[in-house]
Amino acid sequence: MEIILALALFLIFLIILALGLVVVVLGTLKKGKMGINLAKTGCAQCGEPMPAIRKPANLRQALWGGWTCKQCGTENDKWGRQIRP
Ligand SMILES: [Zn+2]
Repeated sequence: MEIILALALFLIFLIILALGLVVVVLGTLKKGKMGINLAKTGCAQCGEPMPAIRKPANLRQALWGGWTCKQCGTENDKWGRQIRP
C-alpha cells in the first residue's frame, strides 16, 4: 500500500515538473516573462551589451530579469526590449 502511495506522489511530482517545463518553454518561445534568454542581448537604445552579472535595480528586474543600461539609463527586459515606465 505504501508503495502505491509513494508512486502516486512521485507521479504528481513528475506532472508538476513537466508543467513547469512547459511554462518555461512556452515563455521562451513567446519571449514572455517566464522565458529564459540564453542569447546575449544589448540595450534597446544604444546597443550597450547586457552585463554578464546583473544587479537588479528593482523588484521587477529581480523577479523577471532585465537590466538598466549604465550607458544611457534605459531599462531593458531580458530580451533586450525597452521597458516603458
Ligand atoms: Zn543604453
